[in-house]
Amino acid sequence: MIDYVSTRNTDIRVRSGRAVLDGQASGGGLYVPEKLDDIKTDYHDAIKGGFRDMAKAVWKVFFDDYGPDNIDRLVENSYRDKFSAPEITPLVKVKAASDDAYVLELYHGPTSAFKDVALSALPNLLSAAREMNGFTDDIMILTATSGDTGSAAIAGFSDVPGTGITVFYPHGGVSDTQRLQMVTAAGANVTACAVRGNFDDAQTGVKKLFREIPRPVEGVSLSSANSINIGRLVPQIVYYFSAYAQLLEKGAIKDGDKVDFVVPTGNFGDIMAGYFALKMGLPVGRLICASNKNDVLTEFLQTGHYDRKREFYKTTSPSMDILVSSNLERLLYYVCGPEHTLSYMKQLEESGEYSITSSELDEIKSIFEGVCADDDEGAAAIKSVFERDHYLMDTHTSIAWACMEKAGRPDAAATVVLSTASPYKFSAAVLDALGEKLTGSDEGNMSKVRELTGAALPAGLAGIFKKPVIHNDVIDIADMKPYVIEKCTK
Ligand SMILES: *Cc1c(COP(=O)(O)O)cnc(C)c1O
Repeated sequence: MIDYVSTRNTDIRVRSGRAVLDGQASGGGLYVPEKLDDIKTDYHDAIKGGFRDMAKAVWKVFFDDYGPDNIDRLVENSYRDKFSAPEITPLVKVKAASDDAYVLELYHGPTSAFKDVALSALPNLLSAAREMNGFTDDIMILTATSGDTGSAAIAGFSDVPGTGITVFYPHGGVSDTQRLQMVTAAGANVTACAVRGNFDDAQTGVKKLFREIPRPVEGVSLSSANSINIGRLVPQIVYYFSAYAQLLEKGAIKDGDKVDFVVPTGNFGDIMAGYFALKMGLPVGRLICASNKNDVLTEFLQTGHYDRKREFYKTTSPSMDILVSSNLERLLYYVCGPEHTLSYMKQLEESGEYSITSSELDEIKSIFEGVCADDDEGAAAIKSVFERDHYLMDTHTSIAWACMEKAGRPDAAATVVLSTASPYKFSAAVLDALGEKLTGSDEGNMSKVRELTGAALPAGLAGIFKKPVIHNDVIDIADMKPYVIEKCTK
């Protein structure tokens, strides 16, 4: 039986269903399985069969109070007919400058970014948790997005009975494609709203709402679709197992060989899922945390000093433009314990920085490596890989690729680069990287990418330019609270 505790206070203790319902623990911490020993398994059990079998095996470990039959049903519901690739997350071999690498394509879901993998699952996990906990309140999902979470959460929750979803995105801070994916969403329970500020402002604003809005408000409870929700994180563990299984199937590794993963990182959720996979027992070598010019994590993983007081850069990989990476707190819990975690998070809130001890840093460094690459290096990676192998990466994947080349690959049996978005989703920047002329619109740019690659335009992106815009609101950060209360009243 797994207890979920707050990263900041182990007296706050719930079962997994309750953790999914709450999203965030009271007092500002995040829910985590109390002990890593509790998630230890024989990894062979979780690399059998197809993606859904692996999902069932992983979910049963983390969501033990749901019951196995319930889990089987929830997994089937989550992944039936939503993904255009039969493997859900296919692994593709791509030529690198030296050795070959493998790209794990996580973007074949409804909104063409990796967040679909988890956000196809979360509504089902939430609905089941409501039933298990005898919950009668409706649930309002509040989410801050740097671009991709918003549309994926809307796709996941649209018209799900008993739920509403409100998404806040930085005004002017997302691509036209990302914006249209959100503001044309037609679900009756959907709200997309721009806020004046960057992603960190929006995310901090949402975290504050969880602290300040009493629950329930107007018979509505609040929950989160950000990766602060453990129900968002666990489904992401599955594709690390899927990657390993596909490497074995291709004969690229022998059973037991260690595999390195390179993860384009923003909120530290995707890579934290890799840490859980490792702690479950999957043979993982290094987890390379790839950052763009917003290199706060690179510095932290190299020096142990986290400092968000730095310039914020808008880059061509906007989903990684983050200075406060929420899920790092989960790693801190396991490495530094709850007392230190509480103190570090307090320092971060109050002074914008903290430093971990050198032994804590050593433990983190034994697994994680921080590397960063700027827009030019990412663009060069897009171009060289396309010229070498006719394989087109998006601007987030290419940051990871560039970081892989920088980090070198001394020991791993194989290296897997997580590909978090379809190149279609960031077609302007991708064309730019290739030295192609832009057409003046995202729609035109997408057609041009299509001409270059011959790959089919994802169904979810094909229609957005013709749909009417439904959501026009732009508000100040300070107005988020009354805005949400009003939405809950409806
Ligand atoms: C969200 C996102 C990331 C960052 O993932 P985290 O889990 O926040 O670290 C990277 N790439 C893309 C395309 C994303 O949408």
